[in-house]
Amino acid sequence: MKPMGTVPAAFTAQDGELLIGGKTASAIVDAAGETPLFVYDGAMLRARMHSLRQAMPERLALHYAMKANPFAPLVRLMVEIADGIDVASVGEMRIALDAGAQPQTMSFAGPGKRDAEIEAAIRAGVALNCESERQIDRAIAIGAGLGLRPKLAIRINPDFELKGSGMRMGGRPTAFGVDAVDVPALAKRIIGAGAEWHGFHIYGGSQALDAEALVDAQAATLALAVRLSAEIGTAAPHVNLGGGFGIPYFPNEKPLDIERIGTALGEALAALPSGFEATGFAIELGRWLVGEAGVYLTRILDRKSSHGETFLVTDGGLHHQLAASGNFGTVVRRNYPLALASQFGAEGTEVVNVVGCLCTPLDKLGDQVFLPRGAVGDIVAVFMAGAYGASASPSAFLGHGPAPEILLD
Ligand SMILES: *Cc1c(COP(=O)(O)O)cnc(C)c1O
Repeated sequence: MKPMGTVPAAFTAQDGELLIGGKTASAIVDAAGETPLFVYDGAMLRARMHSLRQAMPERLALHYAMKANPFAPLVRLMVEIADGIDVASVGEMRIALDAGAQPQTMSFAGPGKRDAEIEAAIRAGVALNCESERQIDRAIAIGAGLGLRPKLAIRINPDFELKGSGMRMGGRPTAFGVDAVDVPALAKRIIGAGAEWHGFHIYGGSQALDAEALVDAQAATLALAVRLSAEIGTAAPHVNLGGGFGIPYFPNEKPLDIERIGTALGEALAALPSGFEATGFAIELGRWLVGEAGVYLTRILDRKSSHGETFLVTDGGLHHQLAASGNFGTVVRRNYPLALASQFGAEGTEVVNVVGCLCTPLDKLGDQVFLPRGAVGDIVAVFMAGAYGASASPSAFLGHGPAPEILLD
């Protein structure tokens, strides 16, 4: 037997069956008419944002990094409850604008931006987080050609990194952003060219569960913003402090202490030198906001044994939930939390392998997990499916096609 991650505490049962958004898993599947299926719980998304707002200083804008989940109905909800949307492509920008996002609250990051993408952002009035000298010069030139004033921030590759982060993106050679040492001259170039100087975007990494590491990274980020502002000669109008808030996917991982982070950040903002009174500060979170609110539901098609082990073969798999199979962003495969929807909360009685329907041994959703007895037709719930699930999985692989997504709100 191998351990599983912990099912998020907000999920409950009715007569032993998993509830999502107040509906039983079987009712959701019956209404959808098919499995597999992604289900997102709108009330959980709202509760999550509410708890973040309670914890964070009032001055801080809370942005949704929609790379985590670009499903249009979910983005509409996030537009309603977040203070801004951060996108990483024109495709995401269009979804956000169609969902009603205000362009002045949006930013567009990405190490490679096509001319057409830069043009679309400038036309829409969305801030470009420029990631290189050439991107800056292209944005200035494209703006001039359009007769429009581009809104330009610089994404900084800081001189520090977010410790304990699952995916580090700072403090080392990287394709992301501009090395801190080069920032003042480039900011002066933006200002000198008559573009709108928007400030800094500093993103140190992802999936950190250690509050102290995030507190340290945020303090270092603020200090860097202050130092670079002094070198440029004007306080940055806006500072995006990045995010990196992680969620507990695996055994022994604990939820992040956001109160601790919010308190420290409130103190750090209050201690800024004078001149930053008008500066806007934001954090951009993806998985922390949406990851736990999603569940992937898949049906058991077969139950078989091989060399003494039991295999539950489902109609889902890594083509929809690559991360749960251990093939997205992890080195060592560990089990996401899983449950049999019809016996939610029941004690396990057998050790099984829960596999997907693809012809590859990589397609494993649960490796030697301890579950109640699952029969053909039962629904398996794979939790932590709200972020980097449907949109970050190879749905064309083997031709089964994408899974439908549903927002219950
Ligand atoms: C991926 C990404 C995010 C979101 O990361 P999460 O781990 O989902 O919070 C935020 N900002 C930038 C720049 C990113 O690349």
